[in-house]
Amino acid sequence: MPQTDFELWSRSPEGQAALTAEVQEDLHHKAQFAAHEAQQERQAFLSDPDFQQDWAREEQRQLPAGTEHAFLLAGNATFTVVSKKTGSRFTFRVRRPKPDSPHFVTVLTGSDNEHSYTFLGTIFADGTYRHGRKSSISESAPSARAFAWFYGMLTNPERLAAQAEVWHEGRCCRCGRKLTVPSSIEAGIGPECAGKE
Ligand SMILES: [Zn+2]
Repeated sequence: MPQTDFELWSRSPEGQAALTAEVQEDLHHKAQFAAHEAQQERQAFLSDPDFQQDWAREEQRQLPAGTEHAFLLAGNATFTVVSKKTGSRFTFRVRRPKPDSPHFVTVLTGSDNEHSYTFLGTIFADGTYRHGRKSSISESAPSARAFAWFYGMLTNPERLAAQAEVWHEGRCCRCGRKLTVPSSIEAGIGPECAGKE
């Protein structure tokens, strides 16, 4: 088509409609291409080993919502519950010494997070939790109330996740000791070891 004819046609109503359609088609292709590129970029990012490792590490620190119950009853679980509202936290250990015994709940009450645990209560085979009569901690103490609250919340993981963080224990990358303070778990090193040269 000679230039002048094309110009005439492009200014005509049908020419304008055709050109508009062409522009739209072009934009549509460009958008499709951009979406495809973004998806490929995302896939490359997700399959990147460094990213996967970071992600796995992140997942290891906090329990995914809804998995707390199984974790709790696994037999030898140490975890820290942090209130999102107040920031207060307690480290609990739930142990089942023998396969046919109930689970015993203890709370960290000293500076040695391997050994400084005080008996709090018992989770029986039928799933009920009872504060221990032999516990030196009163049933109305903050740690006792925190565990009772946490245990009751296990049936409502979404509400639990909205109100508290649940952290796995970590291990110090230098001395291998147990880490229970969230900032240390995140860093992967205890404060004493972090202070050493
Ligand atoms: Zn250490």
